[in-house]
Amino acid sequence: MAATTLVILGASGDLTQRLLMPALYRLHALGLTRDLRIVGYAKEPWSREHFERHIHKALQAFAPDFKEAQWNRFRRQLDYVGGELQADQLFALKDKLNPDALFYLALPPALFGVAATALGEAGFAKGPRNGWRRLVVEKPFGTDLASAQVLREQMHAHWEEEQILRIDHFLGKETTQNLMVFRFANRFIEPIWNAQHIAQVQITYAETLGVEKRAAYYDKAGALRDMLQNHLMQLFSLTAMAPLAEWDAEVLRNHKVEVLRSVVPITAATVDAHAVRGQYRAGKLGRKTLVGYRSEPGIGRGSCTETFAALRLEIDNWRWHGVPFYLRSGKRLASDYSEIAVQFREVPGALPKAVHAGNNWMIFRIRPTEQMDLLVTAKRPGLDLAGRPVVLTAPYASPDHLEFSAYEQLLMDAIEGDRTHFLRFDEVEWAWRLLTPVLDAWQSGTPDFYAAGSEGPSTQKRLLDLGHLWRSIARNGDA
Ligand code: NAP
Repeated sequence: MAATTLVILGASGDLTQRLLMPALYRLHALGLTRDLRIVGYAKEPWSREHFERHIHKALQAFAPDFKEAQWNRFRRQLDYVGGELQADQLFALKDKLNPDALFYLALPPALFGVAATALGEAGFAKGPRNGWRRLVVEKPFGTDLASAQVLREQMHAHWEEEQILRIDHFLGKETTQNLMVFRFANRFIEPIWNAQHIAQVQITYAETLGVEKRAAYYDKAGALRDMLQNHLMQLFSLTAMAPLAEWDAEVLRNHKVEVLRSVVPITAATVDAHAVRGQYRAGKLGRKTLVGYRSEPGIGRGSCTETFAALRLEIDNWRWHGVPFYLRSGKRLASDYSEIAVQFREVPGALPKAVHAGNNWMIFRIRPTEQMDLLVTAKRPGLDLAGRPVVLTAPYASPDHLEFSAYEQLLMDAIEGDRTHFLRFDEVEWAWRLLTPVLDAWQSGTPDFYAAGSEGPSTQKRLLDLGHLWRSIARNGDA
């Protein structure tokens, strides 16, 4: 790695303390970023020493293997500049930049356009001839189709699309990246990865948490914007995309966009058949009594924001015609679990009655643990020819391999310029295009209520084909 500068704009904020700095600290400890200079930039008129103290405290709290000796090496990489998001003040960063430099916008989303413009006006979007410049942004990218397009215009005024790395941290997760390896590196998968063999796909992200300290943001956003439009749509397109002809970031992203373009559009007339929204009321999780969403601090008493959203997506192409993809995410549900579960069709032909061949499931589990499970039917030991369900499990955790958090992975990719796991604008745009009619329809009416600690609203059933059942949230997906 050549000497590189990483400027974090919004370096006094929560993301920097809790996720970015611990990730940078670990990468440094592993010797992967020794030539990285990290410059914090925020409104506070702090000295470098003050910033160091701020980060020291954050790492003590949030870095899993914090060691003072390691910190004393890491701190030498840190620097700080105070200022507003204006070109003349940002210009103070000039002498701190290496020819290779990236700017991470750890800022409220409303400031992404302002920051990208100000950096451009300061002349930072174009590096010297021997260097590169990149801009890293976190979701959310707009709040609907129109606002996403406005944001694109603002960012593209000074930055080329290839310079912009849009983070969706789900793409840094092991399970997500494994989807590509597992699907395309195993000879037996591709021939059965289609409508002829697959009956349905369920993608779930369930949390027991409520809105916590994010009330102001969440009450404006809701579950569809917060989880479905970005994270779950990414898992969806990675699950459904065609194999790559070339292992290349642009080819990969073309394939993902191709999936989104093939989804049967949801219209005002079909919203109810394709989307369900819910909001949690008071309930119980174990022995804990939980208040309803409308009684949470910072939430309006008559709020109709959805804390649960489920979608039924249909892909109109040769591979997936007739296979429903069910996506759902919600807060204050019965457990913290997340997975992509693929159910295969029933086997044809006769079997001895006692075999009871169940449907096979291939499950990519993300939470509580990252692992793959294949549910098969095998012979029950004994004299009779009888079957029993067996789970073949492949855990990811391995004493022989280092694991990296999503932020460690994505920061390293951003520094190295690997765009594979970042979103191109047309992916974001297509996801908004598909979901904006749902958001429009949900402007009026009320969500279906569900008890906190439950499986979500009972109305989610209406999205399912006959014979399909939602996997159980209370039992981490198991039936
Ligand atoms: P935050 O704690 O509110 O901090 C944001 C930073 O922006 C702070 O340095 C803040 O400075 C600065 N800022 C706020 N208003 C400003 C203004 N008008 N002009 C200049 N600077 C301003 O937010 P965050 O939680 O770190 O989130 C940052 C971004 O990451 C957001 O886009 C969020 O959606 C995303 N994100 C956050 C998390 C997370 O866990 N925190 C996770 C995923 C994504 P002051 O401290 O001086 O106000």
